[in-house]
Amino acid sequence: MDKKIEKKLSALDPRFQKKIQDLFQSINESVSLLYETATHDEKTGLYNNKFFETLLEMEVEKAKRGQQKLSLIMIDIDFFKMINDRYGHIKADDLLKKLADVMKKNVRKSDIVSRFGGEEFTILLPETDLEKAKTFSLKLRKLVHADKTLKRYNVTISGGITQFRKEKDNLKKFKERADKALYQAKHKGRDIFVAVE
Ligand code: GH3
Ligand code: MG
Ligand code: MG
Repeated sequence: MDKKIEKKLSALDPRFQKKIQDLFQSINESVSLLYETATHDEKTGLYNNKFFETLLEMEVEKAKRGQQKLSLIMIDIDFFKMINDRYGHIKADDLLKKLADVMKKNVRKSDIVSRFGGEEFTILLPETDLEKAKTFSLKLRKLVHADKTLKRYNVTISGGITQFRKEKDNLKKFKERADKALYQAKHKGRDIFVAVE
């Protein structure tokens, strides 16, 4: 609590002090819950798409103005409809969460992992060029193959990778390139990442 408020509180009758402290705590909890709901996806705990767009705008601005390299990976679970049909929605939801955990656990603190929607995810990698993003995607693919739960259900992912082009890029083109690269990965037979300059 703010020092000034604390000082004012201490001058009050102790019964009121307690009431006001409880009120402050309850307001704080409500604000935290509101923030969490507004920015995160309930099913996976990752950032939601709306908040991702805000962070993306900020990172793109930084990349435009400074020397920062910025890469984007769009990921889609392969044949997820079949997984749903075969194992049911509850199990399929567990797999979404499991994959989200694998991604979250293996990125840097500054990387931004979000659920784009459905069985699609985005990973934004600040200070990362295309080569490093490719290396990361190979690691992620291996981790998905090695994870006990994901392996049991034969979960594989495809991805499209691209890097922000400082001079001639904009946010829309940047996203579209990653999406196109993902489409190519699907076309190549899935369980693969395709990188485009
Ligand atoms: P592809 O390899 O081409 O991506 O095939 P796919 O089956 O993954 O793609 P498609 O777009 O045909 O189907 C996506 C499926 O993902 C269909 C939908 O029911 C499922 N899905 C989307 N969101 C959720 C979710 O929140 N929970 C579950 N259980 N399934 C979801
Ligand atoms: Mg999809
Ligand atoms: Mg899919």
